[in-house]
Amino acid sequence: MKVLKFGGTSVGTVESLSHVKKIVESIEGNAVVVVSALGGLTDKLIATAYLAAEGNSEWHSEMDAIISRHMHIIENVISPERKNQVKKDVNDYLDELKRNYEGVELIRSLPSHILDIIVSFGERISSTIVAAMIKNGERHDSLEFIKTEKWFDKNIANRKLTDTLIKEEFKNLMPDEKAIVPGFISRDTETNEITNLGRGGSDYSGALIAAALDAEILEIWTDVDGFMTSDPRIVKDAIVIDHLTFTESMELCTFGAKVIYPPTIYPVFHKNIPIKILNTFNPEAPGTLITDSHHKDDLEVKGVSALKGISLLSFQILKADISEDIYNRALNSLSKNGVSIIPVANPDPYSELNFAVPEKDSIRSIDILAEEFAPEISKGKLGDFERKDKLAAVALVGERMKTKTRLAARIGHSLRRQGINIEAYSPGNSDTTIIFIVHEEKTSETVRSVHSMVYK
Ligand code: ASP
Ligand code: MG
Repeated sequence: MKVLKFGGTSVGTVESLSHVKKIVESIEGNAVVVVSALGGLTDKLIATAYLAAEGNSEWHSEMDAIISRHMHIIENVISPERKNQVKKDVNDYLDELKRNYEGVELIRSLPSHILDIIVSFGERISSTIVAAMIKNGERHDSLEFIKTEKWFDKNIANRKLTDTLIKEEFKNLMPDEKAIVPGFISRDTETNEITNLGRGGSDYSGALIAAALDAEILEIWTDVDGFMTSDPRIVKDAIVIDHLTFTESMELCTFGAKVIYPPTIYPVFHKNIPIKILNTFNPEAPGTLITDSHHKDDLEVKGVSALKGISLLSFQILKADISEDIYNRALNSLSKNGVSIIPVANPDPYSELNFAVPEKDSIRSIDILAEEFAPEISKGKLGDFERKDKLAAVALVGERMKTKTRLAARIGHSLRRQGINIEAYSPGNSDTTIIFIVHEEKTSETVRSVHSMVYK
């Protein structure tokens, strides 16, 4: 059985929904179809919530626009016999949404659990419409089977419970049934409050379902032809990548490719279920296939991507000895506190250590390190921490990238010659990636230059 996921642009207009209908109805047998909210709607739901919280009465006209957008779609995609029922169901949701905005306006604040309720209406409504539009469509409510738990300030999937509940939910699918599922939304395991899997999380909903059901494939239907060798807005001659390994796709996503939500890859990777990226608006295009191993005609370098908002932290080791294992203590203390680190090369690890971290965590990271190393600092063994912000990580992703030291050296040399200063270099978190840390304003130039060196 297949699991398909359609993103916001795929379900956002009458026209795009007609493609979705064709694609899903042409599947023989049953399938699970995960849908996002109508394109752009989640942003609108959030912006409108802030208006209401400020007491700005413009939220009413935004609410009216949300209502008419949904009604227009229902009017044009739902068959006459079902239209009244669908309108009623959707209106019930919209009324509840409106009551939430009224509440927020009244208390003049927007608690995060209320915002979670507000954004949940996007997927609850889109799935109601899609289920009624598709032949043999049957809606299954993910609030009942996708469960989250708290991890620091985030909600993360409770994998074990979710796995069991998904198996239970879908064990009696009808032979032709197309099970339509709202993506993104979930409930907290303990409090039962509505939560979600984070922005872009519908992909992850699809992956959790595919993994639990041992699906033959997870198809992610979006509005591009697949992963590309670089962001086509930056690199004009970027091309679609036919095939990637799970690790390569993970690295491309970590370093800025926006095709899928990075956590999506883990559950299916673990079960060795292939992912295919396909274009709803160009369904004939071959797309990008993601599997566990390399194909012999794969590109040597799969892609060049970039992540902005990086900081470089460094500190001097004045007289600590090797046994104190400063490096691993630093890594552990940061990751234990939920900071995701890019380890960078440390040419002289006994006198200076460097790490790259997301800029948003950079001040906090220094506090964490200062606490971890308080004893050493007070004894004068470590020098001051330094921090450089406004950097970007430009990553080259491909098979055994780490071993391609000649290519890395050639790129490094050529970037320097162009006057692009390399703040740090990293053989990456995995075998698959090498990274150059450069100044943020040089990101596009670096990506273009590296892309042209690699694919000439
Ligand atoms: N609607 C949610 C968002 O916009 C989830 C998703 O589309 O994947 O982030
Ligand atoms: Mg998305």
